[in-house]
Order: sequence, then structure tokens, then C-alpha cells
Amino acid sequence: MQIVAEFVTSAAGAADFPRDHLPEVALIGRSNVGKSTLINALVRRPLARTSAEPGKTRLANFYRVQRGGGSPMYIVDLPGYGYARAARGARGANTPEGRRREATEEFGRLTDAYFARTLHDGKAIASLLLIDSRHPGLDSDLEAWAWLNAQPGPHGIVGTKVDKLTRAERVRNSRQLETLFDVPVLLVSAQDGEGLDELWKTIASLPNRTVA
Ligand code: GDP
Repeated sequence: MQIVAEFVTSAAGAADFPRDHLPEVALIGRSNVGKSTLINALVRRPLARTSAEPGKTRLANFYRVQRGGGSPMYIVDLPGYGYARAARGARGANTPEGRRREATEEFGRLTDAYFARTLHDGKAIASLLLIDSRHPGLDSDLEAWAWLNAQPGPHGIVGTKVDKLTRAERVRNSRQLETLFDVPVLLVSAQDGEGLDELWKTIASLPNRTVA
């Protein structure tokens, strides 16, 4: 199936978001969960920067994609939230806590502006939380899922790097993920391509759904 994909823009805030009305699927996950690698595997080209390259990790990166005869849409790479967890007792911007708090506020401003478009512009946004399938129950992922559920649009979960699991781990971890997050979890590997067709189908259908 032919895939047409291009990088469109990196957005730091509301003024930078594309102004057309294409539906969007936002990908969210901790740094290193495999988000850029997954985007590159989906579009079969090295469009997304991987974590090793600094710079764009605090921006929302928009990729316009079209698969086969399907409608065009955006895949949006939201910033990793590894750095953006709530900092308690932070004092001043020059402490690690202060910097973390600033990053948290920056993440909040960007994502608030991002999701607000569903209300202001009638934008269709669906979100997928990526979780490393080797580590099903991390606090930061559970917090992210709670946060995501407070955002508008349908949500889903994708377990990454499934090629790293043994058969037994795969059964155990996918059960654990489905119990913890209470939704079906799609397991994928950017390395060997497992689950990517199904993920494309999910991506294509998500923005049209009203419920997760
Ligand atoms: P990001 O920070 O979420 O964008 O993560 P990256 O895409 O940069 O991936 C982080 C690391 O995980 C890199 O070393 C990737 O090569 C590795 N990785 C990503 N996806 C896979 C996968 O499906 N299988 C395996 N084995 N490694 C992966």
C-alpha cells in the first residue's frame, strides 16, 4: 500500500499549529518509548528525529500522511513527558526542580493549546499513548493515561518494542497492560514491522470515533 508522508511543521504554541481541518492522531509517550522510530516505520521514511538528536523534543511535530486511497490526516508527535512530571517544592528556575517545573508548565501550555482546538475549531483529535511493552505499570504512564483521559477525543494504547519480549512475557505483559489501562492494547514492533498494519487501520479510524 502506498504511503505519502511529509513533515509539515514544528509547533511551540497555538500560533504555529496548521490551520486546515485535517483530522489528527497525536502520539504521546515517555522519552525513549520508541515514538520517532515508530513514526518512521509507519511512513517507511526517516521523517522523525530520534531521541538522540536534541532540539525538537519540546515541540509538537506535525506529519501529513496519506495511506493508499485513504483521506489525508496529521500524525502529531507531542513532546515526551519524561521531563514534564509535576515537580513538588520547586524553588527558582536554576534548581533541577525549578527547571522541571518550567518544563511541566511549558508542556501544559502546549498541550492545552493543542487540545483546545477541538472546542474552538471543531478539530478532530484522537490520541494514542505509547508504552514500552517491557514495562507495563510505570507510574508516569499511569499518570499520563489519567491525564489523557481528561483530554477530548478518543484514546488508545499501543505497546512498543514487542520484538524484545519472549513469548511468555508477551502474554503476561499484554494481560497486565489491559488490566491496568482497561482498554485493548495493540502491540507493535518498529523493528520487525509487527502490528504496523493494524496500527495504520486504528490511526485511520480513530479521529472519526467519538468514544475511546
Ligand atoms: P522516542 O524518544 O520515543 O522518540 O524514542 P526513539 O524512537 O528514539 O527510540 C528509543 C530507542 O528505542 C532507540 O534506541 C530505538 O532504536 C529503540 N527502539 C525503538 N523502537 C523499537 C522497536 O520496535 N524495537 C526495538 N528493539 N527497539 C526499538
